[in-house]
Amino acid sequence: MDLRNSPEEEAFRAEFRAWLDANLPPDWQHRGVGGYREEEDEEIQREWQRRLYEGGWLTLAWPRERGGRGATPVMQSIYQEELALSGAPPIIGRLGVSLLAPLLSVYGSDWQKETYLASILSGELVFCQGFSEPNAGSDLAALQSRAERSDGKWVLNGQKTWSSGAHYADRSFLLARTDPSLPPHHGIGMFLVDMKQPGIEVRPIIQMTGSGEFCEIFLSGALVEDRDVVGSASDGWRMAMATFGFERNGLANATRFERAVAALAELTRQEGAGSDDTVRQRVAQARIESHIFRVNGLRSLTRAQQGMVPGPEASLTKLFWSEMDKRLQETAVSVQGMYGALAPESPWSIAEGQWQYGWMWAQAETIYAGSSEIQRNIIAERVLGLPRGR
Ligand SMILES: Cc1cc2nc3c(=O)[nH]c(=O)nc-3n(C[C@H](O)[C@H](O)[C@H](O)COP(=O)(O)OP(=O)(O)OC[C@H]3O[C@@H](n4cnc5c(N)ncnc54)[C@H](O)[C@@H]3O)c2cc1C
Repeated sequence: MDLRNSPEEEAFRAEFRAWLDANLPPDWQHRGVGGYREEEDEEIQREWQRRLYEGGWLTLAWPRERGGRGATPVMQSIYQEELALSGAPPIIGRLGVSLLAPLLSVYGSDWQKETYLASILSGELVFCQGFSEPNAGSDLAALQSRAERSDGKWVLNGQKTWSSGAHYADRSFLLARTDPSLPPHHGIGMFLVDMKQPGIEVRPIIQMTGSGEFCEIFLSGALVEDRDVVGSASDGWRMAMATFGFERNGLANATRFERAVAALAELTRQEGAGSDDTVRQRVAQARIESHIFRVNGLRSLTRAQQGMVPGPEASLTKLFWSEMDKRLQETAVSVQGMYGALAPESPWSIAEGQWQYGWMWAQAETIYAGSSEIQRNIIAERVLGLPRGR
């Protein structure tokens, strides 16, 4: 791969950078490494999404015939890099924009495209993801929520859990079993559910960060029309797998980690912890790992640029960045000595407790989007060709 950007790519970078300069108010920029806190910054995230949408940036990767800009993988990575460098906040409708909208643009009915696509992208309709259940996470096919026909509609009963943003979501894209007599991966439907109806109860789950940005969802007779079934009522597993494909494509970027490593080195200097050999080694290790992550990312980018689909090695990327980030955050908290043990909201915490918040948040990274154990299974079986474990 030629690592230099072409003149067109550099022009694209300049265009997006200029747009960011004009549209990102300085006080919206990343407040250090802990980043935005969902519960505090809902309105900023909503407004930011609207601006990106109106600027045409949220459908960058979509083909032109589906209303996008048909950006190449390199342009998409430039976009991600510039976003990270600018310290932009996340958008409010992350799951709808990154998972559901691309899914609907391929598999949705004309009515669904017409009704939902623009409002998902603009942030007018925020969707949450209702896949996991108390007994169905890694083993998603064990899901038990039911969808049954009654009076020409689908009636949903059951429980979902860990649903990010369900407390403010307008809708959910949710999996439920339509035919329990079939084997686990069959007889599942994907439904677009109105979250503001009487058959839905949402209870936020308070985490150790003190915030409750993901929730339990109780379904007791929630209603869905036929037109809100994605694909057919037995196509849910295929739809779910397609959303995971979109998820793997957009989770992390090297620039974010390089910025975090630079902030960690600065923190180490400030705290006078650099004279400790172990700390020095850990900071250097973080720098090396972020570089390996970038180089490996370039390898994936080369594959994408050559039109090859991401293979099971995407699991290597997910496993590597999530474990690397946990180590990095842990180093940052430990260089603070006893101050590292303070809660983020303590008036004596360093850098407004952003590292502590980041450390707590990083614990989730090795769980969502496929836990580290699941990624290791995939690497063992599909990359290394080892025999399947019992
Ligand atoms: C921050 C966050 C946000 C999330 N947001 C959403 C959301 O919006 N919507 C949604 O539907 N879900 C969401 N999830 C749920 C997430 O998808 C699940 O947590 C994940 O799939 C793991 O499932 P589980 O929690 O039930 O754990 P389990 O699957 O019960 O796993 C428990 C432990 O056993 C290990 N394990 C499980 N199976 C195997 C195996 N075969 N081999 C080896 N080890 C195994 C796991 O690695 C883990 O350590 C979110 C999770 C987090 C942490």
